Amino acid sequence: MTRVPLRKALADLPPYVPGARAPIGAAAYKLSSNENPYPPLPAVVAALADAAMDVNRYPDMYATELTAAIAGSLGVGAESVVTGNGSVAVLAHVLAAVCEPGDEVVLPWRSFEAYPIAVTLAGAVGVPVPLAAGGRLDLEALAAAVTPRTRVVLVCTPNNPTGPAVHADELATFLDAVPSDVLVVLDEAYVEFVRDPQAADGLAAFAAHPNVVVLRTFSKAYGLAGLRVGYAVARPRLAAGIRAASTPFGVSSLAQHAAIVSLRSVGELMARVDAIVVERDRMLGGLRAQGWDVPDSQANFVWLPLGDQASSFAAAAGRAGVLVRPFAGDGVRVSVGEPEATDLLLEFASTARH
Ligand code: PMP
Repeated sequence: MTRVPLRKALADLPPYVPGARAPIGAAAYKLSSNENPYPPLPAVVAALADAAMDVNRYPDMYATELTAAIAGSLGVGAESVVTGNGSVAVLAHVLAAVCEPGDEVVLPWRSFEAYPIAVTLAGAVGVPVPLAAGGRLDLEALAAAVTPRTRVVLVCTPNNPTGPAVHADELATFLDAVPSDVLVVLDEAYVEFVRDPQAADGLAAFAAHPNVVVLRTFSKAYGLAGLRVGYAVARPRLAAGIRAASTPFGVSSLAQHAAIVSLRSVGELMARVDAIVVERDRMLGGLRAQGWDVPDSQANFVWLPLGDQASSFAAAAGRAGVLVRPFAGDGVRVSVGEPEATDLLLEFASTARH
């Protein structure tokens, strides 16, 4: 029995439950972690094999080539891009760079389950703000929750797990209301799946407001979840702070090479994203036609606000061969995968309805 004390904050951390995995050998679709169902591109596999020959060396600490490629693809300066081992790590680095102990971080809830954990581990205090109707972020309430103790506001668009994207007009009003010394983090992990013409453009907000940081990832649209690459786009002074707070050599050489090749293959990858969006809209439309109450989704998942039924629905779906993600007492999130997975999910949902 060790006598080493652990930080008191750890006792109160909410859990981050990984999406269910199918038992080995079981025929099941894994729609529980918002992953991309497509296998890696051959060019990505080849880049990984090449990079494997050099794993006795450390990676490029600041992922210079990848950073330049990301910056070029976004039309921002390379000094504004900071990579990390997944955008969830980049978020931790952002908070480490700006939060003093006890600072408040305003966040929507329900939203990405890593937020309250990251905020607590940064020594800050999370201030959750309930969602508005239809699983939408309540930007007015988020702005109203800002106090002189607030250092950061987290904005998840599209919101995980509910799906809607923040609209450009509401974001503009919100950014005008938030003091310029409060950092606004726009988490755009699912931005490539957005088709709502009214949706806000995080990079435009970043260009107009020096207190905006945009977070993006290669895990979803680019299909590299297992490699762990995410990044922040921030004004150079903030970006330098985030870099200083980052894990040294945080992005492996394999991940750097795969992400660079993925940026070169963006056309092929975005065609896959288009196909996932078609499946999303088919899943959403099918569920609504069956009478389910499903909010809009601009991401690669849909949300069923089932309340107390969430866990039993998810367990029954798993037995029917579709692994989905329950949030106990609240709802079920279903990721969009293969067309056959949509078929099976819709078939299951229809029987569960009757
Ligand atoms: N932000 C949101 C809203 C997410 O849903 C996720 C992944 N579930 C992430 C960030 C983190 O993605 P990653 O660390 O794989 O880049």
